[in-house]
Amino acid sequence: MRNISFKDKKVIIFDLDGTIVYLKADWISLKRKLVEKYNKLYDDYCNFDSVSVCLSKIVEREDEKALADFIKIIRQYELENIEENKPIKESIFFINNKELFGIEEKSKFVILSLNTRSTIIKSLKLAKIFKKIDFIVGREDVRKWKPDPEGIFKIKAHYNLRNEEMIYFGDLEKDMITGKNAGIEAYYIDDLINLVNKKKSGLKTI
Ligand SMILES: [Mg+2]
Repeated sequence: MRNISFKDKKVIIFDLDGTIVYLKADWISLKRKLVEKYNKLYDDYCNFDSVSVCLSKIVEREDEKALADFIKIIRQYELENIEENKPIKESIFFINNKELFGIEEKSKFVILSLNTRSTIIKSLKLAKIFKKIDFIVGREDVRKWKPDPEGIFKIKAHYNLRNEEMIYFGDLEKDMITGKNAGIEAYYIDDLINLVNKKKSGLKTI
């Protein structure tokens, strides 16, 4: 486990799915639907094993109308079972108790996720932490998706930050690569979960 330090961190960035909550969308049906739509529209095949790779092909075609349509379908599927979201309690605890972890009051929490904005907002509201999140970069907010660093650069520009002032938590290797590509520190959420559990057991023994 790597030691995490929040010293001088002005913005703490989180992925959503697998990091703050577990989404319950029917990803298999969604992919099937996207493959079918892509085939119909372009008479071409994209497998949507990576949704981002196929959406990038639409961006290459400069077809903003189609991109909006695809994102609309993704949003529908993501929102369909949103009430069945499972929050990750350690992440929620961390966000609700940042002072316990040496995070300054003025530091901000941000979401960088491949999920759509509606899904992110609804998930944060269900977990009762929506008001604690200062800025959101979702699927529709960039044209190059993780592991491309565009989302991080957007956050960096929004707050006018230096790389050392940001830290990113996610659940996948793709998230770690995103951090690396942007030149910022990135950690697996499991490292933060361990830190939170250590802190919680310390609090109990006082
Ligand atoms: Mg994730």
